[in-house]
Amino acid sequence: MKKYFNILWMVLFIGCSSSKDTSDGFFLEIDSVQRVQHFGAEAGYKSVTVMANCAVETGSSREWCTSVMMPNYATDNLRITVAKNASTEARTATVSVASAEVKQIINIAVRQAGITPAVSVNKSAVPLPEGVTDFTLGVTANVPVVFDKPEWITEKAGNHWESGAKTYAFAADPLPEGTLLREGDMTVRTVETFAGVAPVPVHVTQTGAHHTRIIAHRGYWNTAGSAQNSLASLNKAIELGAYGSELDVWITTDGVVVLNHDATYQGVSMENSLYSAIQPLRLSNGEPLPTLQQCIDIAKQQTQPNKTRLVIEIKTHSTNTNNKRCVDAVVQMVNDNEVADLVDYIAFSSYVCEELIQSNPQHRVAYLNGNLTPAALRAAGYWGLDYNMGILKSNTGWVNQAKAAGLTTNVWTVNSTDDMQYFIAMGVDFITTDAPQTLKTLLNRE
Ligand code: MG
Repeated sequence: MKKYFNILWMVLFIGCSSSKDTSDGFFLEIDSVQRVQHFGAEAGYKSVTVMANCAVETGSSREWCTSVMMPNYATDNLRITVAKNASTEARTATVSVASAEVKQIINIAVRQAGITPAVSVNKSAVPLPEGVTDFTLGVTANVPVVFDKPEWITEKAGNHWESGAKTYAFAADPLPEGTLLREGDMTVRTVETFAGVAPVPVHVTQTGAHHTRIIAHRGYWNTAGSAQNSLASLNKAIELGAYGSELDVWITTDGVVVLNHDATYQGVSMENSLYSAIQPLRLSNGEPLPTLQQCIDIAKQQTQPNKTRLVIEIKTHSTNTNNKRCVDAVVQMVNDNEVADLVDYIAFSSYVCEELIQSNPQHRVAYLNGNLTPAALRAAGYWGLDYNMGILKSNTGWVNQAKAAGLTTNVWTVNSTDDMQYFIAMGVDFITTDAPQTLKTLLNRE
């Protein structure tokens, strides 16, 4: 309809011998509305109707804008084409239409918008399981971007920005020895700041090697000359090369931290007695009940590269006052002896665990009671879970969930080879056992 209207208009124009006619009868005209052309940032073209009865030439003031007359078109006979504007800035050009016969030039203003900056990333989280260090991000960006990242992540060659969608490659450093979890935040951001274009966060989680290791339950007691919670059982666990030697501690009324599994030994209460009342008692191998200080002294004397750790279970005392006294005394002793790297803590009491975590978030604290999920343990700042094997057999996903959360996993008390093999296959970090020699033989066969 518009086309017919324009033809009619031209006929009328010529027939009426418009005021644009030159004295020779030639004319050149473009409707004033069409003398300004707006384009978006993308490449494209628009047509303009040039009314003339003479030869017409056209040209543009900018390379990115071209104009051409379409000889066989009665209307829409001037085509103005623009290239894509890759800049965020708008730009302008002038298209001129001229005829020698009428000695007249008509300018058309061409205005092209800039691109709207936009950045998107194909993932918000990058999990790096054991042994995997390389990863990629798919980034779509129409303006230059850079990557902010932790110092342990580097960019690989070829990561220079290109407009549009591109895959960018990165590598993480291997995890430091003994580290089971490292997390960091990357951001993908524009080089220039644009309103409304926020940096895009990417969370990287690196998890480390998990290998099953041996913890001797109450020391290596199930052998000649040893006894549960004795210095002999600690020494034998060290000789065996166990990762850890578990021991149970109470605090006496006069503040001595002593080893014993139960609340009483031969009728003598641990937490309600003076140490002098405990001193005369003897274990089955003839030793007195050891103090924690004696165990620390033995642990400190180790010279081999893989030192056996003391896995200190702080027993649940009858009051939180005594629980707190015991926690404070143990932590003080560990600090005074500078053996923090030789001590892991375990407890059934969440109060005891929370006190340990609160006193130093770096404390390696594992929970024994079995009633908290890996997610809840992580949220509370635990180092690991240390659950009865029945709990882990009923909740078969917990070991993997714990690993993904960066928690260590320990299972007690696993004494049959079938159960040991079950939990080795499950991938637990530690097996606490009364048969550490059997477990060692099994692990050496793996
Ligand atoms: Mg214990």
